[in-house]
Amino acid sequence: MLTDAEIFSLLSYRRLDLEHQVISSPAAPPDEAPLDFQNLCRGSLGQLGTLPLELLHEVIRFCTLHALISLGFVNRFATVLVSSSSPYTLIAAHAPKLLATLLATDTAFYYTAAEIWDIICSPLCCVCGYYGQYLYMPECVRCCERCLRRSPRFWPITPDTMEKAYGMTEPMLRRAGVAIIKSLPGARITDNKVSVDWPMSFRYMSERAAWEEAVRWHGREDVLMRYVNRRPLAKQLHETRLYGIDWYINEEEHESRYRATTNLPYFDQATKTIERGICCKGCRETARRLYNSHVHSIYWSDGDREAVKMSGRAYTRKSFLGHIRKCPESLALLKSRGKKLPGDDAVTDGEVDRHAWDIPETDSDPAPAKKDGDAAP
Ligand SMILES: [Zn+2]
Ligand SMILES: [Zn+2]
Repeated sequence: MLTDAEIFSLLSYRRLDLEHQVISSPAAPPDEAPLDFQNLCRGSLGQLGTLPLELLHEVIRFCTLHALISLGFVNRFATVLVSSSSPYTLIAAHAPKLLATLLATDTAFYYTAAEIWDIICSPLCCVCGYYGQYLYMPECVRCCERCLRRSPRFWPITPDTMEKAYGMTEPMLRRAGVAIIKSLPGARITDNKVSVDWPMSFRYMSERAAWEEAVRWHGREDVLMRYVNRRPLAKQLHETRLYGIDWYINEEEHESRYRATTNLPYFDQATKTIERGICCKGCRETARRLYNSHVHSIYWSDGDREAVKMSGRAYTRKSFLGHIRKCPESLALLKSRGKKLPGDDAVTDGEVDRHAWDIPETDSDPAPAKKDGDAAP
């Protein structure tokens, strides 16, 4: 009978290529941690200092992540106060790399520690409902690789475009509280090579939030549309975005999706471990076999289509254990090796193609759960 660890080792792999597609800041070294006691100031909490402790805890519950960390620098009492904030300490302990990225991109200005921790503990993509390995920072939502690549929702807008299309300047948007994040310089790596270099930082916001704010500022949607229709450039920009005119013809806009996104670990509260998503070797082998066979997709079985659809998709460990019970290729591999899943008297029959299961040795098995900052780049 296989243990869970043996199942993960035998049937799953991690897609590190997806982790390199988006921006990420290195985790702060321990001696530069924001709440280092050695670097404390001796400031005063001012009027906050007159509040009883229970009210202070209420105040910091509503502080943005950035405000909370800044408060921790004021004096030793404030440091202890912030360190006792459970969501903040959990993020710092389990996802230091994410925390560093949120600070470096200004995302920490807009969301509380509790909001960030909630999303770390929720594994599903907000669009398709499958596991999502990314945080789309302008909206602070979890998404998967496929939705990030295809959904119009994850096409961020720049303040410059916003001004040209709808007439709102960046200071106006900031005053209205629209989250404007900045990307980090760096390179996007696909297929083990640098595909795009990002030498500078860009600012992005959610198109959905920008549109809602523009309607609010102009008063009504028809007033905003009259404003847009009177201006050729505004009309062109608006129509391009409104109708999602093929994103792939505009590589620059396409890249903006990845620049506004970072890796988002998932914390399983039942096992108290951090996960980053694992994929199914069985589905991958099915997809390879079908593509190499040159059989047209109209002749594929429903099971084959499902395997191709799920190939390369990431799962949580728990959902992966559910998936392999329905994955013919995974079951065939187990049968070929005389292995059984826990609770199975006999594995399901399935076609065994030993050649197809010649798995490359370069694949890394899922790493044991570690802190975010410890992950291999
Ligand atoms: Zn999705
Ligand atoms: Zn599978």
